[in-house]
Amino acid sequence: MAKTYSIAIDGPAGAGKSTIAKALAKELGYQYVDTGAIYRTVAYFLDLLGVSPKDVDGVERYIDELNVDIQYDENGKQHMIMNGMDVSDEIRTQDISQKASLVSAHKVVRDVLLDMQRDVAKKHNVIMDGRDIGTVVLPNATVKIFLTASAEVRAKRRTDELLAKGQKADYEQTLKDIQQRDYQDSHRPIAPLKQAEDAVLLDTSDLDITGVLEAMKKIIAEKIAL
Ligand code: C5P
Repeated sequence: MAKTYSIAIDGPAGAGKSTIAKALAKELGYQYVDTGAIYRTVAYFLDLLGVSPKDVDGVERYIDELNVDIQYDENGKQHMIMNGMDVSDEIRTQDISQKASLVSAHKVVRDVLLDMQRDVAKKHNVIMDGRDIGTVVLPNATVKIFLTASAEVRAKRRTDELLAKGQKADYEQTLKDIQQRDYQDSHRPIAPLKQAEDAVLLDTSDLDITGVLEAMKKIIAEKIAL
């Protein structure tokens, strides 16, 4: 099999990982993998069954009944398929964000999803974003970037994004949600959110999308001929 390249992008919620990774994937012709969407799908599945994301016994009992599949449409957009049903839109609520953060702390959940993520990277050149890609999923990734921004900037971006879509958004509540998820994601014992030792840190607080893209391309070009 030909050698594949992988670009791991980790960082806290709302750092702009998916926007940037999607744009880069398009430009480089890589497969974009949003791993958060996989955890969201697990959270949504358990939620439909009425299983609390904190109930480890319930999670263990039902996880085998879930079949998660990642599909890509002709525009390269990632779709999440839960037992044959496309749930890509349903998993995007604030409620599911919080539940995904709780559900993703369980070992059984992370174990089930690990091979699935690694398999994609074996077959394609990938840009994968998440929390533990550079540390756990792809420790030998060709490029590792830890993308971050202050919680206030991330909350403001998220609020503006929702308002632009005509949805309701409250800055203070968004900031609280982001801070809570940051805490949960970085304090769990298994695969916590943290910068890999060999990852390049990029703080995007004072950058716009073009600035982030330029900075990312510079980092990538040091390892991969663009
Ligand atoms: O990236 P996104 O906000 O969609 O992720 C939802 C949740 O899934 C995160 O808060 C995190 O707890 C979990 N997650 C994870 N590991 C990843 C990606 C996401 O634990 N690689």
